[in-house]
Amino acid sequence: MTIGVLAVQGNFREHAAVLRRLGADVVEVRKPEQLDGLDGLVVPGGESTTFMRLMRLYGLDEAVRVFAGPVFGTCAGMIVLDRAHLGLMDVEVDRNAYGRQVASFEADLRLAGDGEPLRGVFIRAPRVRTVGDEVEVLAEHDGEPVLLREGRFLVASFHPELTEDTRVHELFLDQVREAKSVRA
Ligand code: GLN
Repeated sequence: MTIGVLAVQGNFREHAAVLRRLGADVVEVRKPEQLDGLDGLVVPGGESTTFMRLMRLYGLDEAVRVFAGPVFGTCAGMIVLDRAHLGLMDVEVDRNAYGRQVASFEADLRLAGDGEPLRGVFIRAPRVRTVGDEVEVLAEHDGEPVLLREGRFLVASFHPELTEDTRVHELFLDQVREAKSVRA
């Protein structure tokens, strides 16, 4: 499996390390043509305004919009995919909506269908305000969705690449594997 990690800014090295640990081949994507032939794509956390600006500069916004495979966005990556930005996922997101004092925190999350708690690291995290009918909530924090799936899109408002727990990345790779077998 070859997974691209958008490497214009932010936590791309951490994502690449987790994916490699799980046996995937990783390509750091900085140009549109590097999306060709990828089985999946990760849009990491960072700073969404910087992200959008750099993506536009390199033509990566259009390239990601037409990329047909599974996409996994974390934190700023979730903002990039939402209704107000690339419009790929039917969610409405509020940037930095946890406020300044508690902007960064950790919390134990419960994954749908899994008894083992998952440690969520939230860093100036976006807050999901509205989700479309097709969106599936896979984990919540204080009753609000923090891990969501819609078709080939998976998004997290926290940072699974910053803990040793690889379950969220595994979930994404399962999605990639499934999409690959459907195409084959
Ligand atoms: N606050 C950042 C933004 O609005 C996201 C934070 C992150 O990705 N850790 O883009």
